[in-house]
Amino acid sequence: MTLPGLQSDRPAGSDRAFVTLVTNADYALGARALLRSIVLSGTDADLCVLHTGVAAAHLAPLAALGARLVRCELLPTSPAFNAAHARDALHGRAAFTKGEKPPFHTPLDNFAKLRLWQLDYARVVFVDADALVLQNVDKLFDYPEFCAAPNVYESLADFHRMNSGVFTARPSQATYRDMLARLDVPEVFWRRTDQSFLQEYFPDWHGLPVFCNMLQYVWFAMPQLWRWRDIRILHFQYEKPWQDHAKADRLRPLIELWRVYAGDGPVPDSRDLPDPA
Ligand code: UDP
Ligand code: MN
Repeated sequence: MTLPGLQSDRPAGSDRAFVTLVTNADYALGARALLRSIVLSGTDADLCVLHTGVAAAHLAPLAALGARLVRCELLPTSPAFNAAHARDALHGRAAFTKGEKPPFHTPLDNFAKLRLWQLDYARVVFVDADALVLQNVDKLFDYPEFCAAPNVYESLADFHRMNSGVFTARPSQATYRDMLARLDVPEVFWRRTDQSFLQEYFPDWHGLPVFCNMLQYVWFAMPQLWRWRDIRILHFQYEKPWQDHAKADRLRPLIELWRVYAGDGPVPDSRDLPDPA
């Protein structure tokens, strides 16, 4: 099957896939731990990595885990759109006050997530490359488009927004074309990139439990909400576990868990880990 604008290293192996996005070597590192976590969760769905031409050496570990590699371009957005969403422009206009974005994070690259609507799968669960699937989430394939969890990591007000690190989708060329038309309009500014866009495109998004996309800051900011037994997907929003960063000491047990998945050895049953006091 030909996929317009995409180059696949092999045909789809299923009609459903976990999809992630990798535009540079750092996120390939994240994706390897993510893919290993999905394999260990025991799924029959395809693992599919959308990438933008990352060097073969960084993609090889992903292929070794059985991932289908699909090469894509960034979206064909206009020069004005690209300028408005360039890293410095975006950080200047909509500063991140709650945490730090890593130096290897390019806001414009986030929009390439929308390429998944071009894929030849009936059902997709998208997961950011900075996440771990700690328990099987195949049931999400039975959920409709569009489901995502709220962006909860600080307070009740967070429930007004969704987080685009985990969501359910039904690929469709028509949806993809319609999204592009809605995305790149004159004067537009999506302050939280794909996340702002998807929330506006799917105003009636269905809420997943926060445990399907547990954000790492909850560990120290809302510890009452943390319960390892319930957490299916752990998401390292803002600072990444493979970086040296200012919050690393406060997130140590989470970072250690990520490192185990990033390695080659056995992983613990996360349901048995000690919750924060
Ligand atoms: N991403 C990427 N390259 C970039 C920025 C983002 O490959 O330069 C992909 C990657 O899958 C990443 C996701 O887009 O996990 C969203 O970015 P990130 O997770 O850094 O955002 P956060 O979760 O901190 O809001
Ligand atoms: Mn993320």
